[in-house]
Amino acid sequence: MRFRPVTPQDSERSILVLAVFIGLLAALLVATILFTLWPGYALLFCAAGVLALTLWNVAAYGYQCPSCQHQFQIGLFTAIGTPHVWNKKLLRCPACGKRDWASAIVKTK
Ligand SMILES: [Zn+2]
Repeated sequence: MRFRPVTPQDSERSILVLAVFIGLLAALLVATILFTLWPGYALLFCAAGVLALTLWNVAAYGYQCPSCQHQFQIGLFTAIGTPHVWNKKLLRCPACGKRDWASAIVKTK
C-alpha cells in the first residue's frame, strides 16, 4: 500500500460529500416535520449515511504516525471507535505503540 499527502482538492471533495449528506439529511428532517413522516426514516438515513461515509473514509485514507512517521491503515471498527478532528485521528501506532493524533494520508494503491 502506497500513500500520498492530502491535497486541497481532497479536502474540497470531502467537504462537498459531507455538505451533500447534511443537505439531504436536513431536507429529510424538514419533510419529516412538514408531512409528519415516521421519524425513523431520518434516523435510518443518518445511520446509513454515517456508515457509508466511514466505509469510504476507511477505503480512501490511511494514517501517518507523528512520532515515527510509520504509515498504516485502519479498520472500520477503529474508524468508528476513535475520536477524530478533521484530518487527524487519535490512534495507536502499530509500529512504535505510541497513542497520538495521526495525520490522514491518501491511499494510492
Ligand atoms: Zn509510530
